[in-house]
Amino acid sequence: DERIAGIASAIRVIPDFPKPGIMFQDITTLLLDPKAFKDTIDLFVERYKDKNISVVAGIEARGFIFGPPIALAIGAKFVPMRKPKKLPGEVISEEYSLEYGTDKMEMHVGAVQAGERALVVDDLIATGGTLTAAIRLLERVGVEVFECACVIELPELKGRERLGDKPLFVLVS
Ligand code: IMP
Repeated sequence: DERIAGIASAIRVIPDFPKPGIMFQDITTLLLDPKAFKDTIDLFVERYKDKNISVVAGIEARGFIFGPPIALAIGAKFVPMRKPKKLPGEVISEEYSLEYGTDKMEMHVGAVQAGERALVVDDLIATGGTLTAAIRLLERVGVEVFECACVIELPELKGRERLGDKPLFVLVS
């Protein structure tokens, strides 16, 4: 797809952010390019329309940029998966490991119902720990996770393996 090349070239790489040795994939430059941004959303919508997906779960923070336009276009609800102590209602939470230490992800109780079918959206998969936590949260309440969708995959970190048999779709690797 010729659109992929435009998307890839609109992503900026910033060396040594947020710490030395990290090549940070910066999607804010993709958002500055209306054609590349629209192509990104369109490619996801083409894949997920007519798949009976009723939930798009977006991971804080950049899953909040790509998830909602996909949800609107496929006629699904949008559910934010947030960092701890941000959601005001009753939550369920899932702890997950980071390079150093652990973090937590939270979702509102009642946002989704058992038997619903979800798509999980984030900007990037590295080790897969973040997506795995989101999948667990949804599956704990009986939601079927249809697939995970990211703009970028860092294949050398083997996040895809951590997801096991859960399908992962990415635009740029
Ligand atoms: P993982 O849990 O190791 O797969 O890390 C993925 C999470 O870290 C996602 O929520 C990403 O937004 C964030 N992340 C890690 N590396 C980058 C990067 O280079 N650019 C943007 N986000 C990143």
